[in-house]
Amino acid sequence: MNHSPLALLGGEPAITLPGPHFAWPPIAGSDREAVAHQLEAAVSIPDRSGIVADLEDALAAYLGVRHTVTTCTGTAALHSMYAAAGVGPGDEVMVPALTFHATATPLFHLGAHPVLVDVDDHGQLDVDDAARRLTARTKAVVAVHLWGLPENMDVLVAFADAHGLMLLEDGSHAHGASWNGRRTGSFGTAAAFSLNGPKPLSAGEGGFVATDDSELYYRVLLHGQFNKRCRSEIPGTHPLARFAVTGMGLKLRIHPLAAALAHAQLPRLDTSLAGRRAVAARMCAALDGVPGIRVPRVPASARPSWYTLPLRYETAALGGLPIRRFVEAVHAEGAIEVDLPGATCPLGIHPLFQRPSALLPGYADYEGPAAGDFPVAEHVHATSLKLPVWHREDDVPLADAYTAAITKVASHVKDLL
Ligand SMILES: *Cc1c(COP(=O)(O)O)cnc(C)c1O
Repeated sequence: MNHSPLALLGGEPAITLPGPHFAWPPIAGSDREAVAHQLEAAVSIPDRSGIVADLEDALAAYLGVRHTVTTCTGTAALHSMYAAAGVGPGDEVMVPALTFHATATPLFHLGAHPVLVDVDDHGQLDVDDAARRLTARTKAVVAVHLWGLPENMDVLVAFADAHGLMLLEDGSHAHGASWNGRRTGSFGTAAAFSLNGPKPLSAGEGGFVATDDSELYYRVLLHGQFNKRCRSEIPGTHPLARFAVTGMGLKLRIHPLAAALAHAQLPRLDTSLAGRRAVAARMCAALDGVPGIRVPRVPASARPSWYTLPLRYETAALGGLPIRRFVEAVHAEGAIEVDLPGATCPLGIHPLFQRPSALLPGYADYEGPAAGDFPVAEHVHATSLKLPVWHREDDVPLADAYTAAITKVASHVKDLL
């Protein structure tokens, strides 16, 4: 054990390597070539050809689904998924109270009502709370595989089936994760994924919808991929074909350069996820038993993608030291990438969810959440730390240095009280 005094109190920091210590996505020569090649090939693709078709085919094969449609962002993918699923005015869609806001915000643009559902102590959707919030207007429930740890899909599939709800997924943290050997994003009627910068699969900016349902696929096309794609992919005899030219009026296409980047990254995804799982297991083994630090429980059926490693901070075991003071001490040790979850938080704290009518017409009657409505989500959020999960063998010493820095602060916590 390190007996030097804490860096925050004038001791030697555990890590002296200057930051940043984590960058994503890793850019390889093949990524540069793919983007440079795409610059010459096409920088605008109005139909399903070239790199757009290549990326969609590769994503569909990877997930084992029939159809994928790329979009400009994950938020747009969620919007298209909900629109295509027929979610409309007054419909209620259950989303976990603890997620990134875009899991739910597109519902406000369809006149639908997000119904926030509390999570359990592991951050997973609490189906008992969901059952209490069911109404005749409940249409769908959304699985979010928070931080890349798959939801218990046995439980969520059974819950959706039992209540005749559509099961949808927001896989934005969980590209390549699986539950019982089946990839997240292939359980629901449809799934939406972000391909944003730091996500496990990155286009820089982008997203996609995945589904086996051809009707839903046509409607995703109509929502944000008007004209050429709709004309060539929706059969001429289909009743929706006559809307092809305008679709539903939005344009949400991915940029071909972004598609090229994601397409170049995809073949390396499984290798980087295997690396992340090895590093995460190593960090958890090092931190398991450190007083006041609780490592995530990974069910035997779950294979996480570890978008980030969530740790729980147990204030009582650390003499009541506030979590922010702990993080300050860890940062002083040089473990500067340790962070508190920011934008992924209890949705009820956002003014938009409390009073959507201030910005959006049609929500005068929407009953926003009140403080204290989601006690577990609030507690989990207030007691979570997150760590980057490196994937390369070369980064193992850095991962070890991070767990050593956390261990050092936890074992010197008396000095901070
Ligand atoms: C990132 C993210 C989104 C939104 O994706 P963008 O590509 O940033 O629009 C939605 N849901 C979750 C859970 C996310 O992490």
